[in-house]
Amino acid sequence: SIPLSFFAGIGAASKNGVLIKGSNYLEALNFVDTIIFDKTGTLTEGTFKVTKINTFNQASKDEVLKYAAYAESYSNHPIAKSILQYYADDIDKTQIKEFEEIQGYGIKSKIFDREVLVGNIKLLKNVFGDNNDYNNIKEEKSGTIIYVAVDGRYIGNIIIRDEEKKDSKNTIISLKNRGIKTVMLTGDGRNAAESVKKNLDIDECYFELLPNEKIEKLELIKERIDKDKKVVFVGDGVNDAPVLARADIGIAMGALGSDAAIEASDIVIMDDNPIKILTALKIAEKTKSIVW
Ligand code: ADP
Ligand code: MG
Repeated sequence: SIPLSFFAGIGAASKNGVLIKGSNYLEALNFVDTIIFDKTGTLTEGTFKVTKINTFNQASKDEVLKYAAYAESYSNHPIAKSILQYYADDIDKTQIKEFEEIQGYGIKSKIFDREVLVGNIKLLKNVFGDNNDYNNIKEEKSGTIIYVAVDGRYIGNIIIRDEEKKDSKNTIISLKNRGIKTVMLTGDGRNAAESVKKNLDIDECYFELLPNEKIEKLELIKERIDKDKKVVFVGDGVNDAPVLARADIGIAMGALGSDAAIEASDIVIMDDNPIKILTALKIAEKTKSIVW
């Protein structure tokens, strides 16, 4: 039978905005070795702002933005929301003939009877092959780069930026003080990933990961730690659901997080503040000291 104090612990957690789906997870929190974080929406706000538009091949900034906004108009991705918010004109949806969202890559669509690609470098490489003029793009210091191509021609990119959540840094510092290792996984590019890693002082970071590659990283980390220790994954997005399910303890952001992520998780942080991980760890510790 389950000791009563576990129920008390779960109750205390829920009063603090942390929903724990079972007493076994509360107990497991006392054996955490590594916490793996998703970047966008977990450590960062997940609300990007457009900071710059670069053009190529005689395209105009308006053109680059217009194709991007049209391509993104059926997407719920945070990147789509940022571009649509920046685009001031109306979108004539009758001009969007095809729309395909490829997880971890971006959008493939048919707009104004043209083939439009909006996404990362991998998306363009998949369609064009390796030798193309997008290879000449000069690297931006930080930010996420969204590439735009029309009818096989690269026309420019949009630089967007996301801010770290206010309490992310404190969270990482406190976890390290407890001897917990911190890792960040992201589908985003090198620049965006490394700037967050550096600002938050995260131990390890892997970028440009497809959803299945996030699972592979999690499995590798599980293999390298002691059998009786636990690996936590914290995420918010639709494509985080499989990793949340595979982690020893999956923690989802509940406010802006996707239903799939919340469903697949063991613990839900109601207000999306990563510092609540510390709240959960402290309650788990107290619960342990009462039971044993
Ligand atoms: P994350 O790990 O940040 O949750 P995703 O797997 O959702 O990342 O996306 C990884 C990358 O794929 C993004 O950084 C972006 O380059 C590209 N991408 C995904 N969805 C879109 C989209 N709707 N529009 C443009 N690019 C996208
Ligand atoms: Mg995400």
